[in-house]
Amino acid sequence: MPALFFTIIWPFQIVLVFLQSISDCNYYNIVMKQTQDYLIERDIRPSAQRVALMKYLLDHHTHPTVDDIYAALSPEMPTLSKTTIYNTLKLFAEKGAISIITIDSRNAHFDSNVEPHGHLRCTQCGTICDIPLKEPVMPDGNSQCVITDTQVYFHGLCPNCNHNPNR
Ligand SMILES: [Zn+2]
Ligand SMILES: [Zn+2]
Repeated sequence: MPALFFTIIWPFQIVLVFLQSISDCNYYNIVMKQTQDYLIERDIRPSAQRVALMKYLLDHHTHPTVDDIYAALSPEMPTLSKTTIYNTLKLFAEKGAISIITIDSRNAHFDSNVEPHGHLRCTQCGTICDIPLKEPVMPDGNSQCVITDTQVYFHGLCPNCNHNPNR
């Protein structure tokens, strides 16, 4: 490749990288603003830590535990503690911003998808998958109990373990 080619091309590359970094930065600000609004709409004061936690849950539909979230965020946020994460997620759940999945008796899992759906815990690998429901589960109205939350849990195999011939 002639040297002249690079001489002509590289200033364009620098401009492109510069424009890309501006648009990345704008995108980041828009997403952070959307996450702040999501919290404010649910009457949650959007501190920097709360926004970071909510953004993590909105970005990761893997039903993470407190330990998962701590491992992911603590390198960037050294003042974050597991207790803060747990208390913040409890607040988010009380305000209806997330739901707490208790299918795993050892660890609570957290879900930013608050639309009605069931969960399956894989008996092989422990992964928790969303299971869409045909109809929301409704009590028949004959109970004297007051229902404050509904969770639908299934046990079985996740798609990966189901398709793994070595299981
Ligand atoms: Zn599995
Ligand atoms: Zn879910």
